[in-house]
Amino acid sequence: MLWTLALGICSALPNSIHDDHLPQFADRRQTVESLSSHLLGLIQDNLSSTTLATRDSELRQVINNNAKALNDIGKQIDSAPETRRTALVCKAGQLIYGSRAVTPQQPTYEEEKQENWSTTCWLPAACFLNVRNALEVSIALGLVVFTQTPFAVRSGGHNPSPGFGSIDQSGVLIDLGAMDSAWISADKSIASVGPGATWENIYDYVEQHQLTVAGGRAAGVGAGGLVLGGGMSHFSNHWGLVCDNVKNFEVVLANSTIVQANSKSHLDLFKALKGGGPNFGIVTRFDLHTYPDYRVWYNYKVYNTSNVKRVMQATIEVQKAMETNDKIGFFLNQGVGTLTAGLVYREWTTFPAAFRAFDGIPVLLDAIPATNGTQASFSPALYVRTRGANDQTYRFEIGALTIKPDVQLYQDLQLVLQQIVGNSNLNLGFTYQPLGAPAARQGQAKSSNAVNIRPEPQSWLALVAQWTDSADDQAARSKLRELISRIESTARSRGLLLPFQFQNDASYSQSPLRSYGADSLAHLKTVAGKYDPRQVFQKLQSSGFLVSRA
Ligand SMILES: Cc1cc2nc3c(=O)[nH]c(=O)nc-3n(C[C@H](O)[C@H](O)[C@H](O)COP(=O)(O)OP(=O)(O)OC[C@H]3O[C@@H](n4cnc5c(N)ncnc54)[C@H](O)[C@@H]3O)c2cc1C
Repeated sequence: MLWTLALGICSALPNSIHDDHLPQFADRRQTVESLSSHLLGLIQDNLSSTTLATRDSELRQVINNNAKALNDIGKQIDSAPETRRTALVCKAGQLIYGSRAVTPQQPTYEEEKQENWSTTCWLPAACFLNVRNALEVSIALGLVVFTQTPFAVRSGGHNPSPGFGSIDQSGVLIDLGAMDSAWISADKSIASVGPGATWENIYDYVEQHQLTVAGGRAAGVGAGGLVLGGGMSHFSNHWGLVCDNVKNFEVVLANSTIVQANSKSHLDLFKALKGGGPNFGIVTRFDLHTYPDYRVWYNYKVYNTSNVKRVMQATIEVQKAMETNDKIGFFLNQGVGTLTAGLVYREWTTFPAAFRAFDGIPVLLDAIPATNGTQASFSPALYVRTRGANDQTYRFEIGALTIKPDVQLYQDLQLVLQQIVGNSNLNLGFTYQPLGAPAARQGQAKSSNAVNIRPEPQSWLALVAQWTDSADDQAARSKLRELISRIESTARSRGLLLPFQFQNDASYSQSPLRSYGADSLAHLKTVAGKYDPRQVFQKLQSSGFLVSRA
């Protein structure tokens, strides 16, 4: 994916963030006779309803120039069988987007298909529509809605659940990967990023201004999915979740209207987008608060599991300290033979006293020596690659659980993992991601999110299975489910299981939106119904954590 940086500092944000326009929900299709006038109408609606920096003339011209062919397609759609229907929609896409509507006949098709992180998501979309700005997203959505074509939306493509940022030949993939720009406001308080921007590039950009943002920890992951799923940064206890640090979302609603959702405009939508997933619209820009503390210390230490007791005791000590010292960032990867501790601190320092609990535990490897760096320099080290050394490609499946911190439980879970992996060569493991009461308070203070974290110390577990051969899909998936279920029952039996499932790590078979609690889910349903009364995102969107299926 290409990374483009806007040159210099914009004098103002690209669009007004105080757009009080209320979306119109006219069912335009019943009032117009042709596909071309439908699409032109959507452009017109957006121009009159927002202060959008326009790219309209080019789009208008393309639609006018191809009006006859588009209208012929519009007429054929209703009577076409399903297979022909998607081909027609892709043809319309080619008339509008040219070679950026990629069909199987084009040489770049395989590249598009293989953009997703997990090869389980290399699905053969009927076509990929590479959109470049909010207006093009609005037209793409208008096209799939007009023709009632299934679609999926992809930003960074890092969600490993098939059908989330991917779709098979029955539908169209709206690819936001090219919307990867970043701007900084004149007063440098806001960084505006496109949904296809990846975190290492976002950090790289803001760090040029000696600033940072609350964002993802690993390179490669897209802003789009991570923020909408809530988002965990290194310092959740300091910043809250990543979504808590959004000042404004630019969103294309189901009726193709482009709106700004923030504390002054569409407040209900603003809150719902903070962790509510892909239920309300396609987000085309995130305006993120910037912060001065871009200097980060980190150290990545690998231990043998024979030291599990000491490592887990140290982990619990660090977790306790995190409740009062919000400079601490920490995670622990649990593998079959190794434990890897990610020690992170929100300032440049020598070895922070907060991690002294790890002193004296024999280290197998200082995988990343203690470094005074930045989020940009650390994030590539945390990336898990799709391709291995011998160019083999990986399949991934994930799951999420939340447990309370407890030395004995942490120790026992290592045994559980070892028992489940047994003699198989499956790469199975999980990561403890601690956060606590301060993270919940941040969410409440910053105009509240949909996630509804309990204000108490907890570890969000991210479980991952990694394998290479599709013949092993069933075995790998069933081992992962077994691990989820065993951890769940072990923690529950000791009163240490919490109901929360983190959307960004959850399996498609879990229900993270339900885990937010009945009130939060009811609110999300109400907002989805208000902004998408025809249920475009529930019915035409191929998959994702949808309120209608929660
Ligand atoms: C190596 C790795 C490291 C990770 N590290 C972190 C981490 O530090 N913190 C964390 O919180 N999570 C982390 N994750 C999880 C990650 O946040 C999720 O997988 C997330 O869904 C990825 O976002 P994406 O844009 O890359 O994915 P995609 O697959 O493109 O999208 C994921 C979902 O979001 C929807 N979506 C994407 N963009 C939009 C949009 N603009 N508008 C509406 N819907 C949209 C898609 O339709 C899909 O359902 C990590 C994942 C990986 C693989």
